[in-house]
Amino acid sequence: MIKLDGIHVSTEIKKQIATEVLALKNNCKKIPHLAAVLVGDDGASETYVNAKVKDCAEVGFQSTLIRLPSTISENELITEINKLNNNDAIDGFIVQLPIPKHINEQIIIKTIAPNKDVDGFHPQSVGKMALNLHTFIPATPLGVLKLIEHYKIETAGKHCVVIGRSHIVGSPMSILMGRNAYPGNCTVTLTHSKTKNLKEICLTADIIIAALGKPEFLTADYVKQGAVVIDVGITRVKSDLTKSGYKLLGDVKYDEVSAKCSYITPVPGGVGPMTRAALLLNTLFAVKK
Ligand code: NAD
Repeated sequence: MIKLDGIHVSTEIKKQIATEVLALKNNCKKIPHLAAVLVGDDGASETYVNAKVKDCAEVGFQSTLIRLPSTISENELITEINKLNNNDAIDGFIVQLPIPKHINEQIIIKTIAPNKDVDGFHPQSVGKMALNLHTFIPATPLGVLKLIEHYKIETAGKHCVVIGRSHIVGSPMSILMGRNAYPGNCTVTLTHSKTKNLKEICLTADIIIAALGKPEFLTADYVKQGAVVIDVGITRVKSDLTKSGYKLLGDVKYDEVSAKCSYITPVPGGVGPMTRAALLLNTLFAVKK
């Protein structure tokens, strides 16, 4: 069994990005500039956004964090987004989700200029991705592709089962693994909460990508010998064994599943760091475009 080391691969990617940034600087070209919009004071969102700002500093990008109150109206937020759309200093930006319930998420996503949509959530980006055109790919699925690519895992003709159909992970993942590309060219089954015979389907999978958000859901009896298992799930659960009182669990019961796998991602240290590196890749892509 080979552990897919997201920390190692993401570090390599960040080194390559930092080298490109240095070359841009040396040639007096524009340094990539990512902005992040944080609405309200949700603790988890705050942590994610701070990590993105830190990642930018690490590779030499500029970054701007825009904090807005949770009471902001939809129209006011649209005005803020349009300012970023029209600001030539900003190459790409994200609106950290979730946003407060009184604001329509889809309207906000559609307001982001497609050429600055580094999260890849705009309908234009999603459509282009489905058509296999060069575009922004949502960070988590892009991170998974980069991990598969790094370890040169064969995907053509394989049966890939994706568990979960969210717009940010499962659904784009299923499209990408089915595209005529590498990684891709899989026969893909997209499964979800209404899927009836999940275990039987998983047992026919060469590659399983679990993104359902249910800690240790995928046990060894779902996995055939030699399968590749990518665990996207991250759930914080209480633990008496850690100083913080919490530990992170994936959607895969790692100890028993890893014994059957050819490749597997750990949690933490698998898909998580790859997601962070992928946002940086998208920001660099925004500049190159
Ligand atoms: P979500 O809640 O939006 O979607 C979960 C999906 O799982 C749904 O489509 C649902 O139909 C499906 N599902 C739920 N129960 C199921 C079951 N019993 N059988 C089959 N399908 C089932 O979640 P999400 O935003 O896609 O995130 C999924 C997990 O991935 C979460 O743990 C989240 O924290 C994690 N995540 C990790 C990263 C990362 O960088 N590693 C990024 C995004 C999300």
